[in-house]
Amino acid sequence: VNKKQDYFNEQDVDVLTVLAAQAAIAVENSRLYQQADLINELVHELRTPLASILTIAYLLKRSDLTNDQRQQFAESIAEEVTRLNDLASSYLEYSRLEAGRLTFSATAFDLRNLLTESCRTLRPKAEEAGISIQMFSADQPLFLTADENKIKQVVVNLLNNAIKYNQTGGRVLVNAWKNGDSVSFSIQDNGVGIPEADLPHVFEKFYRAHNIQEAYPGTGLGLSICNRIIEIHGGTITVQSQVNAGSTFTVELPVNVKK
Ligand code: ADP
Repeated sequence: VNKKQDYFNEQDVDVLTVLAAQAAIAVENSRLYQQADLINELVHELRTPLASILTIAYLLKRSDLTNDQRQQFAESIAEEVTRLNDLASSYLEYSRLEAGRLTFSATAFDLRNLLTESCRTLRPKAEEAGISIQMFSADQPLFLTADENKIKQVVVNLLNNAIKYNQTGGRVLVNAWKNGDSVSFSIQDNGVGIPEADLPHVFEKFYRAHNIQEAYPGTGLGLSICNRIIEIHGGTITVQSQVNAGSTFTVELPVNVKK
């Protein structure tokens, strides 16, 4: 018995095949549009550092420069190239996440260990900037099954921001706790904060709040990468903030990753 013929005749099957192919093309097209959007934004972001490098190159051609000025221009070029480099690697990471091409490998681990390790890694950098990092957490282990490296990437990113958007004498507090079937952590700073109007947008790609744009280097991709990683794990990432008072980022993750 030909099962196919019980339900469809040959012509119907052809129509279904065509419809399925059209649906696949539509999905592919929308993916291509999204990718084109992302590339447009990237090109736009590349323009600023490239324009700075060009300006500095012209200035360097002047013959009346002191050694100090030359040194400063060279440093500025190095800074702008670092920014280009950061943009390129963040962009690659982001587009891989968007395309769903990053492989996730879930293992069981204690969130407290991951947080302690991340704090230890970033403490020298924080201390150099005159900022302290303290951690508080539950006494019992906070086990979860998730991609440890990816969660660490989120923690390091949030800690780096808490240090960067802060000032000498500032402090960063890390908290971790369990709530039913999920574990959470928060990273709180008493730094520059985020204006209310910018707050709903900080997880969007390339978005940078108005109070920091000139003074602090960055790509505006870090939080969108964090958001995507947490989303893929079935968790949530939220922020509370007040200008000149500080920001708190809170991440909640299911104990068992829902893929
Ligand atoms: P980047 O730091 O490279 O600009 P992110 O995606 O990590 O990009 O952050 C997006 C924006 O959110 C930042 O540009 C900044 O305006 C704001 N932001 C993130 N973390 C903090 C923080 N801890 N304190 C103040 N502003 C922050």
